[in-house]
Amino acid sequence: MQNKSQQAAGTVVILGTGGTIAGSGDDVGYTAGQMSVQALVGAVPALAGRQLEAEQVAQVDSKDMSHAIWQRLAQRLAHHLAREEVAGVVVTHGTDTLEETAWFLQRVLAPAKPVVLTAAMRPATSLQADGPQNLLDAVTLAAWPGAQGVVAVLQGRVHGPAEVRKRQPFALDAFESGEDGPLAVVQEGQVRALRSWPSGEALGLERIAADAGTWPRVDIVVSHAGADGVVVEALVAAGARGLVVEGTGNGTVHASLLAALARARAAGLPVLRASRCSGGAIVGSPEGALPTAGVLTPAKARVELLLQLLLPPSS
Ligand code: ASP
Repeated sequence: MQNKSQQAAGTVVILGTGGTIAGSGDDVGYTAGQMSVQALVGAVPALAGRQLEAEQVAQVDSKDMSHAIWQRLAQRLAHHLAREEVAGVVVTHGTDTLEETAWFLQRVLAPAKPVVLTAAMRPATSLQADGPQNLLDAVTLAAWPGAQGVVAVLQGRVHGPAEVRKRQPFALDAFESGEDGPLAVVQEGQVRALRSWPSGEALGLERIAADAGTWPRVDIVVSHAGADGVVVEALVAAGARGLVVEGTGNGTVHASLLAALARARAAGLPVLRASRCSGGAIVGSPEGALPTAGVLTPAKARVELLLQLLLPPSS
């Protein structure tokens, strides 16, 4: 594939949402989401003189990510991506839910320009801070003419929105794309593409236009030894409109839990089946005929079902 080293003419917009990359404190006892996105940009000397704009969209630990922030982020992204002078957009984010945000944004926007999520495993104040290099790589990628779609860059590796997952709770090299591997690498300001960039049809902002507080409730239930249907029944009673089951192995589900899911489905609740394995995709197993989420993790499958339930405006 092509290796283009030149940068696209144009502005890169950096949207801050918080996370450890904006955290302050020591490597374990820190508080995420403390530093402004402007301060993060100012801390990277190599970004001086680049055509950048920075905007704070949120300031949260991404474990507390909300549908309202996703909605606002998608709206701000759409606004900036529509500006002719903008080459691409970077989103600084926490690592904990980065993969969910990536899938949500790709499905809603499927942008022709790059939207590059980046994060850090060490706070901005750490002696081992990984945020500055990740931010620099993200800006490089957002300005690179060959990139498109929503991607994540960490530790020099570019991950696609369907594949990216956090695999390590503390190690610096915490992200992977499983057996598919990264889309590209960024090394010393050079992008080397390895496979195709994300594409697809955007569901559009209209799909997520309703007040986020009214979005349908979609929950994840886990299959495990000793599982039963109590959680499913409680969630249905609490108003769940869809369920994702995090199955064992090849999407298998404990018989007692499966029976409860079948009852919920018969009552009209959509159920999507994912695997709790840390890689791969469910292969052709007909466990209770529950549809599978393919390569999507349970958390991304929840996003998928949520977006399906947020019906298009015409329906
Ligand atoms: N809890 C943090 C967050 O997701 C972890 C991180 O960013 O590394 O915001």
